[in-house]
Amino acid sequence: MNTVDYLRISLIDRCNFRCQYCMPEGTELDYILRQELLTNEELLILLREVFIPVGFSKFRLTGGEPLLRQGVVDLVREIALLPQTQDLAMTTNGFLLAPIAQELYDAGLRRINISLDSLEPETFEKIIGNRGKSRWQQTWEGIQAAHRVGFDPLKLNVVVIPGINDQEVLDLAALTIERHWHVRFIEFMPIGNGQLFGERAWIPSEELRQRIRKRWGLLESTVRGNGPADIFQIPGARGTLGFISQMSECFCDRCNRMRLSADGWLRPCLLNESGQINLKTALRSGVNLSELREEVRQLLLIKPEINFKLRDSGTTDTYTRTMSQIGG
Ligand code: SAM
Ligand code: SF4
Repeated sequence: MNTVDYLRISLIDRCNFRCQYCMPEGTELDYILRQELLTNEELLILLREVFIPVGFSKFRLTGGEPLLRQGVVDLVREIALLPQTQDLAMTTNGFLLAPIAQELYDAGLRRINISLDSLEPETFEKIIGNRGKSRWQQTWEGIQAAHRVGFDPLKLNVVVIPGINDQEVLDLAALTIERHWHVRFIEFMPIGNGQLFGERAWIPSEELRQRIRKRWGLLESTVRGNGPADIFQIPGARGTLGFISQMSECFCDRCNRMRLSADGWLRPCLLNESGQINLKTALRSGVNLSELREEVRQLLLIKPEINFKLRDSGTTDTYTRTMSQIGG
């Protein structure tokens, strides 16, 4: 059985972007009330007393947009200082990154994934929801700042949507030729915007690889990442390419993660709402931490069954939360 040691922690469900595939403009979302968010203190108690003792040692801060969370640098520092933290990473849209990239690094963050679905400002605006003011440049500056500060590997996440940004796959892949960057192509999932998914669907990773192969050739990397991505490399490139193919392939058997939402729900599987535990309510009602620890330990034991249970039955009605709410 796979060791589950990786926790994705959503710091906030709000976002300054409205990506079409995640929380499109006009969608009514019930945001978590401020008082319902796990506080930094509660989060640290859960890490120290529950997650670390049951074996978690790798943490990723995400959202919503994690950089909208007040005190994010302090939280990074506290988590990085926990002696059992082996890996601390963040996934961000990069828009607010440039001014605090150095502070985050100094606080102990070492790995960062930045979403960048297009190199063309116009397409980018179309994807993230146009607010009349271009936000591509500031996002690109966030990426440059992360590079200068020394985040390594620096990963760029691209959700590929047919007819919207798939024509840029080669340009995005080309970023890895001269730079030690890791560009990851993610298959669009029916979470968040069912309508867009219905209209556009998704492109299998293998089709993207064929396009890249035809242009430059493509080598399968001998390095196996810690996550679900299949890693490849353009011959002679400094960086690598990752393909996250949750639609065309089932990688549940190598799943090593759980997700904690900003309001404290622990979720064992992204695609399935079974087995969730409300840790915040338990914590606030004064439950004994050893009981909570035991409950999480039991959830770890049944996780493989949960991973597979609904995966193949096409249960779109279970996706009642968007990626921004789950903590993608
Ligand atoms: N706001 C941050 C960001 O965009 O990087 C972090 C949260 S976001 C929910 C995390 C990742 O989920 C992003 O890389 C985003 O592209 C991806 N994502 C969101 N909705 C998705 C969907 N329907 N299918 C595939 N990936 C999705
Ligand atoms: Fe915001 Fe990230 Fe969702 Fe885009 S993918 S709307 S940046 S949370």
